[in-house]
Amino acid sequence: MAIIVQKFGGTSVADAGKIRRAAKRVIEAVNNGFEVVVVASARGKQTDRLIADALELNPNPPERELDQLLSTGEIQSVSLFAMALDAAGYEAISFTGAQIRMITDSVHTKARIKSIDAEKIREQLGKGKIVLVAGFQGIDENGNITTLGRGGSDTSAVALAAALGARECEIYTDVDGIHTTDPRIFKGAARMDLISYDEMLELSSLGAGVMHTRAVEFGKKYDVKIHVRSSIEEKEGTIITHEVPQMEDVVVSGATIQKDMAKIDLIGVDNKPGNAAKVFAALAAAKVVVSDIVQTEVSAEKANLSFIISTSDLRAAKEAVEQIKDDVSCQSVFVRDDIAEVSVVGVGMRTHYGVAEKLFGALAKAQINIDAITTSEIRISCVVNKEQAKDALRAVSAAFELDKVAQDRAKRG
Ligand code: ASP
Ligand code: MG
Repeated sequence: MAIIVQKFGGTSVADAGKIRRAAKRVIEAVNNGFEVVVVASARGKQTDRLIADALELNPNPPERELDQLLSTGEIQSVSLFAMALDAAGYEAISFTGAQIRMITDSVHTKARIKSIDAEKIREQLGKGKIVLVAGFQGIDENGNITTLGRGGSDTSAVALAAALGARECEIYTDVDGIHTTDPRIFKGAARMDLISYDEMLELSSLGAGVMHTRAVEFGKKYDVKIHVRSSIEEKEGTIITHEVPQMEDVVVSGATIQKDMAKIDLIGVDNKPGNAAKVFAALAAAKVVVSDIVQTEVSAEKANLSFIISTSDLRAAKEAVEQIKDDVSCQSVFVRDDIAEVSVVGVGMRTHYGVAEKLFGALAKAQINIDAITTSEIRISCVVNKEQAKDALRAVSAAFELDKVAQDRAKRG
């Protein structure tokens, strides 16, 4: 029998009525002949409440204790869910992460999964039971409870699907799938039927925020088909899968804005070996995460070095630059913290020309200045003024027709 993993987010199990509705989805799958493993997140805002409880008693709670506390949110969800299934006449059994030996490293609050004991789950499935597993949690080799980082239940679900060789990992959520762009900003943003892991990774690290990035990485590594769909409506959502040729027919599959960005330019750095290494060593020592780097030679003697970071790292970055700037003979430092990054993503960029021209043209027509441009193989990003970010996203989304479904955009070529 084929196994299917169904993951329900916090909003989908927030109260008794919602748990019953979620249970119906599980029962449907059982009646369709699947063995079902359910992963659930903590109910509603439970995790936030637990964090607030912790901070009330200790502004700096020991991370081991925080994990111990936060893991209880998901345990509540799965045991209640099992009770709902039992009430509906279906045999179910819930487990904590520790009980199924979801082994992680020991990095509390952002642990990474190392292995899962699938045997225990198979054994229960073999007895005809629906198995429920508390998401977001694991246990380290010393028996300490760990958690996987906020939103980590997605990763629990995809990892379980991989370990069990599941047919599919369904992610039930309060949206009906992945959209080409933020529907709150660009009305009519289309829902995608299909997206590749790589596109999804670009979109989620760019702040699309629908799925935990680690979950998509896991899916890619172990080739798990991920289906993001609505827990309210019955219709199909978006499938995240490995790349198929038809994906290349669409030039741009999605667009995003990333706010809270800052840019630092080191103007007139001595153009000689070792200077970039010195600057980035100082930034690394200050634990600054750098997203994009641009260096250009301006003469035989001098170069300009720019990099983009999130505003939360700005103070640390400025201090690091202050320390290193004389050492690399930097003439001046220019900092901007009022920027946003607008990006377009699509595997079709590899085979289509004119994408950059269309993007820059759309921004020009909307009178939006581009402060910096960075690219990857399947992404082009433009740094713009923060106040113009939404207008920029609208202009770009209109230019690439992100309100049309992919097939229609592909036909037009
Ligand atoms: N309950 C955790 C959180 O709120 C994990 C999750 O929802 O996936 O971040
Ligand atoms: Mg989530």
